[in-house]
Amino acid sequence: MSRFLAFLCGALLATSPVLAQDALKFGKWGVDLTSMDTSIRPGDNFFLYVNGKWLATATIPPDRAQTGSFQDLQILSEQRLKTIVADLEKQRDTRLTGEERKLRDLYDAFVDTQAIEARGLAPVQKDLDYLQSLKTLDDVAHAMGSIRLSTMSIYNIGIGVDDKNPDNYSVNLSQGGLGMPDRDYYLSNDEAIVKTRAAYRKYLADMMRLAGMSDVEARADRILALETEIAKVSWSRADRRDEDKIYNPMPASALKTLAPDFRWDAFLGQGEGAVPLKRPDGSERYVIVAEKTAFGPLATIFKNTPVSTWRDYLTVHYLKSFSAYLPKRFDDLVFSFYGTVLTGRTQQLDRQTRAVHLLDQDMGEALGKLYVARYFPPEAKAKADLLVSNLLKAYEADIKTLDWMSPATRAKALEKIHQFTPKIGYPTKWRDYSALRVERDDPVGNAQRSTVFEWNREVARINKPVDKAEWGMTPSTINAYYNPSFNEIVFPAAILQPPFFDPTADDAVNYGAIGAVIGHEISHGFDDQGSKYDGKGVFRDWWTKEDRANFDARTAALVKQYDAFEPLPGLHVIGRNTLGENIADNAGLAIALKAYHLSLNGKPAPVLDGYTGDQRLFLSFGQVWRTKMRDSAIRTQTMSNEHTVAEFRVIGPTRNMDAWYDSFQVKPDEKYYLAPQDRVHLW
Ligand SMILES: [Zn+2]
Repeated sequence: MSRFLAFLCGALLATSPVLAQDALKFGKWGVDLTSMDTSIRPGDNFFLYVNGKWLATATIPPDRAQTGSFQDLQILSEQRLKTIVADLEKQRDTRLTGEERKLRDLYDAFVDTQAIEARGLAPVQKDLDYLQSLKTLDDVAHAMGSIRLSTMSIYNIGIGVDDKNPDNYSVNLSQGGLGMPDRDYYLSNDEAIVKTRAAYRKYLADMMRLAGMSDVEARADRILALETEIAKVSWSRADRRDEDKIYNPMPASALKTLAPDFRWDAFLGQGEGAVPLKRPDGSERYVIVAEKTAFGPLATIFKNTPVSTWRDYLTVHYLKSFSAYLPKRFDDLVFSFYGTVLTGRTQQLDRQTRAVHLLDQDMGEALGKLYVARYFPPEAKAKADLLVSNLLKAYEADIKTLDWMSPATRAKALEKIHQFTPKIGYPTKWRDYSALRVERDDPVGNAQRSTVFEWNREVARINKPVDKAEWGMTPSTINAYYNPSFNEIVFPAAILQPPFFDPTADDAVNYGAIGAVIGHEISHGFDDQGSKYDGKGVFRDWWTKEDRANFDARTAALVKQYDAFEPLPGLHVIGRNTLGENIADNAGLAIALKAYHLSLNGKPAPVLDGYTGDQRLFLSFGQVWRTKMRDSAIRTQTMSNEHTVAEFRVIGPTRNMDAWYDSFQVKPDEKYYLAPQDRVHLW
């Protein structure tokens, strides 16, 4: 087996700059020991034990919802992208490729706020007039289906990979229609949520007032009442992540039977921009419907709502979509609700930072190409490749020794592990933006053309073989993902740096950080949903009944554990919504520890500053999640995100690991102590 220790080889480092010069630094060997609060017993709160001193003084910048490891890296990534753009600016009209010129123009159009103010509502006036002129339900459905308008619709439509036939693309439909992050925001009587709802209602009225509309209070009431009706028939987050419930293929024509009160022909369109419902041979394509039982009731709401209410609804959501390219008063209003109320931020990010976010969103692979050339040395990719293969080997070793899995399922699981595809750093094939038109004096048009460009790209490939080289994240993204249809794990360049990954740091630190992240993504292939896909990415059941029951019993225990966590007084983690991520966190850490042990090749781990290898691995894991977050952001994440908040992403997995108890001598009287029989061991 290749050994990760090679990373500490001095000669290699001397000739190979594996870290960008501006990389973040953490302590002598990778963990910042000054952040720890050793007055806290590890079992009372391991998150505070590792990060307590840092938390006591950390301040969240007014324009951010949080601060910490992820945020610092995010800011570093933004700075680098700004440097790239500044260089493009310097080379104004010389030596730039067409694509680089587009990046620069997209940026310039966005940061020229003077011109944006001067234009006022002129760039969107035609669309606003159109939306206010809608007369029939057919008109409303047509506007909902318009890609260019990017307003709101009760149904979302997209082109993706067919879960049961991952070599083909499919047209996918899901529920939509809500302006707040989740149905619970409309239905909960929790005090904080009631306040949020009132703020949303005010936001709706203010938006219409800004647009020059009259009688805005009554109109806002009607929009909120409409969205509340939509919320009532919408599926919960837990149901929406259940693959067995959301895979409902049917011929496109069956939509009219499923939801007869909707105007499907107008929505799906004809001619340019239409949804491709016919195959090249003229036969009917099938569509895959997600929240099947919600479709009919949504259509009934559609039919029973006056067109005048739909006009206002579509208008406010349209204005939100383009607010960043409109005068400041629109931008500020959207921020007052979506920034301040939902995440607690009091200040908008500066325009330059938002501009690089926009570039990342609309031309992310063009920007990513420049990012990788400057900030991702080939050596870093090679070392990350090696680490991923070590984690896969540890997973394989683990599956071979699982006590709760039968030989039949085990053989299939091993087959799946062998079929994993890792993607590291950046795509092998970059996206072609030549069909995208960018104008320096037209930020609204740029946004609309970009949305249409993306849609056209998706439609153009629907009859072609599935492009497995494609990436779902840009290289400058601080994140990673598992895609069950491709059975692939993907790590963008930007996450492959400290504190996640530092080839110059101690091995235990790297295994506790990026190792646990890699293990997390691999585990998604075996979480409560990912385990429903086989090694080829086909959604099908390959488990024996008994193994599935064993697995479900273990995950049910995990749901209970997480349900008990309370990030804010009275606000509990929703164990069922976050199960997949919690499984991945638990399994990821367990596999990372296993991989670290394998990397030692039977030799004892070195002791550094009095810390054993296992201790350093757990400290590093805790450091990665070093985060201070605003209360409103904690609430929003807990209610509407599949990831548990940082504190419990540290506490949850560590308390299920025997090695953590041994490493820190955790006693039964400590708060998060679990008796050995209550610890959940999945992998
Ligand atoms: Zn995940």
